[in-house]
Amino acid sequence: MKEKAAELAVVSNKSFEASTAVNLHHYDISSALQTTLEFNELISIFCNKIQVTIPHNSLEYVNPEFDLAFKRGIIGRHSCSYSLKVEDQQLGELKLTRSQRFGKEELKMLESLLCCLIYPLRNATLFHQALQMAYTDPLTQTHNRTAFNDTLMREMKRANRCEQHLSLIFVDIDHFKWINDEHGHDCGDLALASVAGWVKDSVRGSDIVFRYGGEEFVILLIDTNQEAAAIIAERVRLGIESHTIAYGMAVLNITASLGISTLTGNDTMDSLIKRADSAMYKAKSLGRNRVCLG
Ligand code: GH3
Ligand code: MG
Ligand code: MG
Repeated sequence: MKEKAAELAVVSNKSFEASTAVNLHHYDISSALQTTLEFNELISIFCNKIQVTIPHNSLEYVNPEFDLAFKRGIIGRHSCSYSLKVEDQQLGELKLTRSQRFGKEELKMLESLLCCLIYPLRNATLFHQALQMAYTDPLTQTHNRTAFNDTLMREMKRANRCEQHLSLIFVDIDHFKWINDEHGHDCGDLALASVAGWVKDSVRGSDIVFRYGGEEFVILLIDTNQEAAAIIAERVRLGIESHTIAYGMAVLNITASLGISTLTGNDTMDSLIKRADSAMYKAKSLGRNRVCLG
C-alpha cells in the first residue's frame, strides 16, 4: 500500500510539473504578446516563442482586411495552417511549414498556444480599425489632413535620409462653389466623392491621396521627381476633365487646377506645401484646368 501511494505521488508530481511548465510557457507568450499592437511584431514574437516547442522553418501570416502578407523563413514540405477568428471576427490566417510532418501532440499544443495569440490579435485589429477611421475622410474615403501631416513629416525624413525624390500635387476643383449654388450641397458632395475616386484611379498604388480641405486634394508622390510628377498631374487633370456626373437632369463637367512641388534640400513641410499651393493658384490665374510647376 505504502509503495502504491508513493508511486501515485510521483505520477501526480510529474503531471503537476508538466502543467506548470505549460502554464508558464503560456504566461511567457501572453506577456510578450502584450508588448505590441503591430500585426507583424505579434506574429513574429509568437513564432519565436513557440520555436522550441513546435520547431518550424517558415511562417506565413495573411490578413486581407489590412492588406497584410507577412512571410519568413524557407518553406518546408509539411504545413499546418489556421484561420484565426474570435467570435465572428476574422483575424487572418497563420501557416507554419517544415520538412517533417507535424505530430498530433505538437498540433494540440500549437492550438492551445494559439489561444494566447487570438486576443492580442483582436486588439491589434481594433487599434488599426480605429487608426484607419481617425485617418480617413468619410465623404471621399481619402486620407484626411491629420494623416497628411503625419505622413508628409515621415516621408520627408525618409526622402532626405535615403536621398530620394518626393513630390506633392495640389488639386483644387474649379468653380466648385457654383456646383453647390446651382445644384445644391448634396450634388456638391457627390461631385467631391466622384473627383476623389477619379484622382485615386489616375495614380499609382504607392501614391497617397489626401483631402486637404473643402474641395482641395493633395497627392503625395514617393520617390518621384518633378518630371514624373508633371506626367502624373497631367493624367489626373485629364482623368477629371474626361468624366461627367449625371445629377437628376443635369450633366456636370468638372475640371481642376493643379500645382506641383518637389522636395529640395532646405525645404520644411511648410515651404514644400506653399510651393505646391502657389503653383496651383498660378494655374487658376492662367485660366484654370491646367498644371503648373512650383
Ligand atoms: P476656384 O475655381 O477659384 O477654386 O473656385 P471655387 O468655387 O472652387 O472655390 P471657392 O473657394 O470659392 O469655393 C469652394 C467651395 O467648396 C465653397 C464651399 O462651400 C465648398 N465646399 C467645401 N467643402 C465642401 C463639402 O464638404 N461639401 C460641399 N458640397 N461643398 C463644400
Ligand atoms: Mg479651394
Ligand atoms: Mg476650387
